[in-house]
Amino acid sequence: MKLLVLSDLYIRGTRIGGAPNNNRPAGAYYITQLARENGIDATNIDYFMSWPRQLLIESILKWFDNEKECHIGFSGSIDVSGLDAYKEIVLELKKDLPQLKVMLGGFREPGGDSSWVDILLVGRCANIFLDYLQGKDISQYKVYDNPPGYKNPHGVITDKPVTPVISKDDFWCNQEPLTIELSLGCKFNCSFCGYDYRNNKNPQIAKLEDVVESLQTAYDVAGITRFFLADDTINEVDDKLELLCEAQKHVSFTPEFMSFVRLDIMGAKPHQIDLMKECNLTSHFYGIESLTPEVTKLIRKGGKPEKNYEILRRVKNEFPEAFTFGNLIVGLAGDSEKNVLESCKKLVDEQLLTSGGCNALRIYSNITNDEIKSEIDKNPAKFGYNIIATDTIDWDNIGYGSDAWETDWTDSYKVEKLSNAIDEYLGENLESVFTAHEMFSFSTLVPGYSISEYNSMLPVFRKEHTRMVKKYIKKKSQFLLGDK
Ligand code: SF4
Repeated sequence: MKLLVLSDLYIRGTRIGGAPNNNRPAGAYYITQLARENGIDATNIDYFMSWPRQLLIESILKWFDNEKECHIGFSGSIDVSGLDAYKEIVLELKKDLPQLKVMLGGFREPGGDSSWVDILLVGRCANIFLDYLQGKDISQYKVYDNPPGYKNPHGVITDKPVTPVISKDDFWCNQEPLTIELSLGCKFNCSFCGYDYRNNKNPQIAKLEDVVESLQTAYDVAGITRFFLADDTINEVDDKLELLCEAQKHVSFTPEFMSFVRLDIMGAKPHQIDLMKECNLTSHFYGIESLTPEVTKLIRKGGKPEKNYEILRRVKNEFPEAFTFGNLIVGLAGDSEKNVLESCKKLVDEQLLTSGGCNALRIYSNITNDEIKSEIDKNPAKFGYNIIATDTIDWDNIGYGSDAWETDWTDSYKVEKLSNAIDEYLGENLESVFTAHEMFSFSTLVPGYSISEYNSMLPVFRKEHTRMVKKYIKKKSQFLLGDK
């Protein structure tokens, strides 16, 4: 049996324009690693949309070598980009490999024509994936018919945190940050959050030896020193930061990390600044959401805004090398335009963040996968929102649409404009125009510049990315074709 997983996170849409993505999805590597551990010949093809189509088809056909049992998977992203290209490739391959079985993973909802797909794996379900490959009965997990879609029961964590161990045949290089995960599950239940493992009292934490192996292999095989932590929050407890500090002691280099961080928890546990310095967590994404006291209570996140300002001041003074990005949600019940503007002005006047941005609140009603609904999606009225039209924003490309709503001070139409204006204001008046993820990616791709210099380097990133991917395609195609 052979398994091939394709991926391409493709374009990163920044505030100032699109840039190619130099991140490969860790899930795709987790899947092939698991397959190999279970005796299946498995490999990955990344950046597949940048491959010359003919070379890609020839390389895949050669690698499968007319294997009797062959499976192809697509590790998709939430915005379903690349799905059409994947379909074309699959249909082309099936002319020579009619036995090819087609998998889709990474999506949260089925959508569009799926007659060409054999199995859709929704959410985290490596257990179902393995059972399927081993021909076991997976009917108990079935949730959709077209295509047959499977997922684990809500909130049940069956996977381990993803700590990929890359190999030489994956042809990574040190211009790509590797994504790893220290835990699965979040113990909080913020009302706007659609993370499927929220409200989980027993988050699973990765084993030290797995983290060390993942980091050290990335360094040994490809010289990688920079890592994204995929955890939805890194600091709800100290354990994960302590795990990183310990891991640092067991590797032969100094890794650097980027992560989502809960600012209000840092406010309550300011000693975490020292832990973050110690483990080199130098890039932070704070989902601040709001700095209005009435709102933070309602959304069950944020604590006392004054404490948040205070901890931002401390991070700025005590950890000045940290890149800090804060994101706000505009339109939350209990807020006001005046409050939002004043909060942003304060952030700018004191330069409390390296960069900041904001989004308009979105409420979704037509999601069939119930577990990715936030508490607000499930019962908008309870949280102060009146739905005035359903499914008004045509987000075809993510498979579901959001509703129009009104609340005590605004509605979804007005908020869209306000959010754009604030986003622009923060972009123009803080040091960086990029989010923490963007900056971490770009500075890994093209290292060595100051934060403000990166603001005008999109053309450089594009050029360097093309060069890097070309090199990857050359090596990976040679491997698949058996030339090397
Ligand atoms: S927003 Fe973050 S902290 Fe809140 S429930 Fe979601 S993952 Fe947890």
